[in-house]
Amino acid sequence: MIKESIKKKYTCPHCFTKFTKQQALFRCQSIPEICDYEDDAIYTHHHPVSTIEKQGRLIESQSQDFLKKFNEADGQKCDLCAHVTEQRACPTCHHNLDKGFFQTHYIHVGVIGAMTSQLSHFVVMAKQSFSENLAHNLGLIIHPSSDKSLEIKFERLEKSRSPLNKFSPTMDYFSFVFHGVDGDSNKDDFNLYDAFLYFLPIPTLPLKYNAFEDLMKLVHESTTSKKRTVSKPFAIAYHSFEKLASLLPDSNTLLRQTDYVGGYNAKDNLQISGEMMAYTGAWYGANTLHFIKRHLPNHQFFTFSLTYPNDQIASNGAGWKVADALVWLLYQNKIVK
Ligand SMILES: [Zn+2]
Ligand SMILES: [Zn+2]
Repeated sequence: MIKESIKKKYTCPHCFTKFTKQQALFRCQSIPEICDYEDDAIYTHHHPVSTIEKQGRLIESQSQDFLKKFNEADGQKCDLCAHVTEQRACPTCHHNLDKGFFQTHYIHVGVIGAMTSQLSHFVVMAKQSFSENLAHNLGLIIHPSSDKSLEIKFERLEKSRSPLNKFSPTMDYFSFVFHGVDGDSNKDDFNLYDAFLYFLPIPTLPLKYNAFEDLMKLVHESTTSKKRTVSKPFAIAYHSFEKLASLLPDSNTLLRQTDYVGGYNAKDNLQISGEMMAYTGAWYGANTLHFIKRHLPNHQFFTFSLTYPNDQIASNGAGWKVADALVWLLYQNKIVK
């Protein structure tokens, strides 16, 4: 049992390299007066925009010791100041790893079609939607994180106590990490991601261009499979729903809030997806639908708004169906039922 978990690989949420728990470094947490901070050229190389130049000393985990206490303490003595530290760091990019990193199931989401500023706004609004009632209805607790972080952390409310499932406690934390995929960086390889979000606006008619053309190009360039298919969950999310809302009859499903009491609402979401697929066909033609069906077999359509309906901004400010695509991704990852 222990042997198997020692070999388990974890992915750095910052540089995407894989490593075992034993390969992860420790970083001394003493104050610089006790243990000198050191230049970390590797950290600076991987994080050029960051201003941190000197940080606590990095220490490799001492394998013998480590194996002995694998299931007990997770600390390591600093070889210079002898303080015990629990702070871990990525062996490749030296970024500190969050507390609970090894107990967290990370879902790396490649976000296509959004500017960085739009993406951070979306993440803030989605966190807000989850923190209203949504997370609770799904049996999750959302953990606080800074407005700037492109991450949403959850904990499962009901821990599994089944003796048959000894390792389930290590899966009680879940985290979405969002990465902008813009067709112009080293983060464009689709193999890096567990799921995708494609943002595009409800179009203004008449159409000036096909918003799916850029996506078709990106899928072609960033996938390695022979048929250029993306088998991971792929959410196609139309934003600016307010532009469509005014054209819909009052009875339309798209105008109803989706009810998530007790878990994922497959019925409503399939209906919404069907409606948006029909609109996609009407706006962008059969060839676009054909491309989606063929290259994105695990897709679903969504629509949301960061402002609709106007009169609710003051009371909840969480926008309209902002988190629906993320709930689907939680469902696809079997985190919610
Ligand atoms: Zn030290
Ligand atoms: Zn890293």
